[in-house]
Amino acid sequence: GDDAPNAGTQTHYLNKEEEFRVEVKIGTSVKVTLTDGTAEIFGAELPKGTPVTLPGGKHAVFSWHGATIDVLGATELEYVARDTPMTQYLNLDGVLEERRKAAAAAGAAGDDGFASDGPRVALVGPTDVGKSSIAKILTNYAVRKQWAPLFVDLDLGQGGITCPATIGAVPVDRPIDAEEGVPLEMPLVYFAGDTSPGNNPDLYRYLVERMAAMLDARHASNPAARAAGVVINTMGWVEGQGYKLLLHALDALKVDNVVVVGQERLHSELTRDFRGKRVGGDVPGEGTPVRVWKLNKSGGVVERSPEFRRRCRDQKIREYFYGAPGAELQPHSQTLPFGQVSIFKVGGGPRAPATALPIGQQSSSDPLRVTTVAPSMSLLNSVLAVSHGRSNADLLSSNVAGFIFVTEVDMRNGRFTFVSPSAGELPSRNLLAGSLKWIEMP
Ligand code: ATP
Repeated sequence: GDDAPNAGTQTHYLNKEEEFRVEVKIGTSVKVTLTDGTAEIFGAELPKGTPVTLPGGKHAVFSWHGATIDVLGATELEYVARDTPMTQYLNLDGVLEERRKAAAAAGAAGDDGFASDGPRVALVGPTDVGKSSIAKILTNYAVRKQWAPLFVDLDLGQGGITCPATIGAVPVDRPIDAEEGVPLEMPLVYFAGDTSPGNNPDLYRYLVERMAAMLDARHASNPAARAAGVVINTMGWVEGQGYKLLLHALDALKVDNVVVVGQERLHSELTRDFRGKRVGGDVPGEGTPVRVWKLNKSGGVVERSPEFRRRCRDQKIREYFYGAPGAELQPHSQTLPFGQVSIFKVGGGPRAPATALPIGQQSSSDPLRVTTVAPSMSLLNSVLAVSHGRSNADLLSSNVAGFIFVTEVDMRNGRFTFVSPSAGELPSRNLLAGSLKWIEMP
């Protein structure tokens, strides 16, 4: 039967607008080969005749015109679906494409006003509605038409760009595929130190604003990037404080197309809150009106249990250090005296009542305050960010070069051992700690 786990090669036939959905066990992979027709995985075209590795997780192979695919390896679940919301997604891409073309034409005509801004699209909705998948589809459709849009991930929980506990942005000039994910040549990554923004919402807002400022600066100096626009994946926390953080992010990043996936109530809240709003103009009444869309959730998106979610997150960290399954990197282990690095953290600490503090001392719970972390055993298994910040003063606002994880703490000799994805000197000796931990599973 179709739902039974199976190994060996299976051939699947897709009619036009059908989708093959497959679940691969975490830690394993299968190979998919397009043998006839055309097909795509979240908007990235499958090459004909070349096996593509699908890592652990849930995947969908969609065909607009019909396809034959071979699947090699054991899957946990697989079936072909007839009903998909892909036409809706394609129609939205059509609207965005008009904007990009108009923006490029305005830019070429020397207009540096809002008319030369390409679309800034954000996917919003609760967890497990397919936001990141739709973000990939929209990005890939733009890339296939020769644009290089900026892909932004604001979801601390799943870490679409490099590691969890970060927000990041990266220009995408080749399709985001199942094997390599988001191209990571020049990512701009900020470390929030935690997988939820709820523990330090001020820091989250601060980093989103930093990212927005970098984005504006990039667009001011790069008309092609500006016309290509931005696709933003947001976090799934859309209630209470989460909703406020979401509104702040949409505002800060000047999003003009808010795309709500799979939740009627959120759609009506956002429609209400964005009524009459415009972005990009210099005077009231000018600028692009914000449009709020509603897209259906795909039936292929199934809820992930907290446990599965955690394993996805761990796999993400593992991939950062060791590469995707099949394309294993050779991670590098080093030992350094604690004296050769400086470890910092932002905010945190128990909130001390003002009366308990010596006169003139600032509360240690200032959410944006950078403090030094003394070496201790609690650093064991921590994922630390390597900051581009040179001084204590600019650590908060600096993006990070990458990550290391601490495999050993030797307090007696005052040194620690860590793994980094590449050999050689750390790009900086200023490290940022948060609550992100990872234990390597054999
Ligand atoms: P979160 O906010 O929790 O990260 P999300 O809304 O971004 O979730 P996705 O990550 O896009 O949701 O999708 C959830 C899972 O469903 C992913 O594993 C994704 O690969 C899978 N998925 C998405 N669309 C399909 C589909 N059409 N068929 C099969 N699986 C799918």
